[in-house]
Amino acid sequence: ALASSAIGKGKAKAVVGAIDYMEERFEWSGELRARMQTVFRIENFRLCQEGVCNANMDGRDIVCVMPTGGGKSLTYQLPALLNPGCTLVISPLISLITDQILHLREFGVEAVKLTGSTSKEESRDIFSRMAMTAGIKNKGNYNNGPVSPEIKLCYVTPEKIAKSKTFTSMLEKVVNAGKLARIVIDEAHCVSQLGHDFRPDYKKLSILRQLYPRVPILALSATCPPKVLKDLITTLRLKPVVACTAANADGTIYFSAPLYRKNLHYKVLPKPSSAGAVIKTMTEYILDYHQGDSGIVYCLSKKDTENVARGLSEESAGKIRTGVYHADVHDREKEALHKRWHNGDVKVVCATIAFGLGIDKGDVRFVLHHSMSKSVEGYYQESGRAGRDGRDSDCILYYRPQDASRLSSLVCGEIEGQDKLQDMLRYFSTASSLSMSAWGTAESDAHARCGHCDNCTRPPESVERRDVTLAAWQILQVTQTIERDGGRVTLGMLADLVRGVGGGAYGVSGGGGKRGKGKAKEKVELDLGEIAGGKVKLGKDETEALLVSMLLSHHLKESFHSTAYAINVYVLSGANAFRLARHSREDVEDGKGPRITVAFLKKPSKKRGDGDDSKQASGSRIEVTNRLEDSFDKITGEK
Ligand code: ADP
Ligand code: MG
Repeated sequence: ALASSAIGKGKAKAVVGAIDYMEERFEWSGELRARMQTVFRIENFRLCQEGVCNANMDGRDIVCVMPTGGGKSLTYQLPALLNPGCTLVISPLISLITDQILHLREFGVEAVKLTGSTSKEESRDIFSRMAMTAGIKNKGNYNNGPVSPEIKLCYVTPEKIAKSKTFTSMLEKVVNAGKLARIVIDEAHCVSQLGHDFRPDYKKLSILRQLYPRVPILALSATCPPKVLKDLITTLRLKPVVACTAANADGTIYFSAPLYRKNLHYKVLPKPSSAGAVIKTMTEYILDYHQGDSGIVYCLSKKDTENVARGLSEESAGKIRTGVYHADVHDREKEALHKRWHNGDVKVVCATIAFGLGIDKGDVRFVLHHSMSKSVEGYYQESGRAGRDGRDSDCILYYRPQDASRLSSLVCGEIEGQDKLQDMLRYFSTASSLSMSAWGTAESDAHARCGHCDNCTRPPESVERRDVTLAAWQILQVTQTIERDGGRVTLGMLADLVRGVGGGAYGVSGGGGKRGKGKAKEKVELDLGEIAGGKVKLGKDETEALLVSMLLSHHLKESFHSTAYAINVYVLSGANAFRLARHSREDVEDGKGPRITVAFLKKPSKKRGDGDDSKQASGSRIEVTNRLEDSFDKITGEK
């Protein structure tokens, strides 16, 4: 009864009579397309837009996961025009809402916003227009002017729902008059504590279903991994999801589009160890490839943003015009920065992740990560601010294993923080080669490649697979000795110790270890020859990369210690350590016992005139083992 007629595409359907929202023609299909073209001046639907519009017109609850810039707004704005009454949109940020309203008004669509900063008069006007929609006679004396057109879209921040009784009871009247077409929850992953951007006011949106049980809900997001999806469904009290191809089944219709965006080119580059060298590398990169382009440099701390902004500007002799954005920047300055960025006075914004939601600048040509993100979802969102106009753009992450420890201490209080960080590391480090997965030269051709990330585009001969079992064994001997002594070492210290760099001593905290009694801290000499039969014969970068791999494979583990100032992260032997450590050095050298191989990147040869490669000449690059597309696919709710 839903579909007027099916297009005869000759597709066999698994279930007789199953309706596919993506394929079917409905009685509204013609008008939908016509309005899209005349009102929004968009020629064709893309990704799953048409399907979502169909399910929307059909009054279904929907979860829609589409990439940033994919066009999620159209999926409710267009049906809002066709449906009688008003569509309520809940959106996390005033800046996002303001942009949308301006955009809609340009197209002549009646859209309003109710936020904390809406004036009394405006609110009163909106309330009286809503009352008219609900068919309630206006008691106030407000009705002197010309009759305002019906509100088609009303944008609110979540606290309006959570805190404003006047608003929710007004809404109830609109609902009772059958004039609330739909409730849209934009950036819906914010309802879940398991997501990367939890907002407490979003959690309170659970009352929507209780207050207005018959009003359909559309939840939109660009990042919704399975756990978040599950959480979202429970929190919003929606029915379990069903596929958009089984539209006549009972449940919430789930749509997702591939998150991968073909115009974004991903690369992981080695991060030099000194702060100055990082600035130099970034400056060269920007001047060589993106001079005059708009870009973002994401940094881990507020202090980093300031240092990097100053550094880029000085190193480029003022050629790179930088700005700073983080949570402590005053609102007025933030606004000024947005303006200067839009009009081109500032080209490169050095920011913490506070600079995010609501960036509506299409021509961001590059996003650099000074430090890696806390999770793959976070990285997807942050890097996804590049190339929203669909043109080629670069996403570059500067990776150094030590940053992993720094991040680890930051996320140790967050729910699943470590798991998410490890997923991120799995992409950027040598993990899967350590776990002996198939990334050999023989298999690499069979391995379907996404063709976008540098892991896929790099020639196989640039990768060198090495057996590092002996080094791993030595590392474990050292770690276990230090543990027995009650010593504490960080990842960076351990990398030096095992290579016999920097005196070969480590600190033992007072009271704990046998040898540390009575003193606050004591230095213990480490006899590498006796413990491990000599120094680890790997470079510093390689050793650090190996340590991170060993963390991921549970040969090592981290332990967190908070002091008054910071949380320190120390490295201990992990659950799998004994499997390797119990063998003798002779056995390991003879190739007995488990083997550990890591793929290192060979230094690129300079003779290839390809400037891209010669830029990466310094240091040995570590292997990027997973396809980025796979990493991103994990953050849709499907799998
Ligand atoms: P998001 O999914 O991130 O919310 P938006 O809804 O803000 O994305 O849309 C991003 C941009 O894409 C907007 O400028 C919008 O006008 C444009 N857009 C949306 N749908 C289409 C389409 N089918 N064809 C071309 N451009 C589109
Ligand atoms: Mg959006």
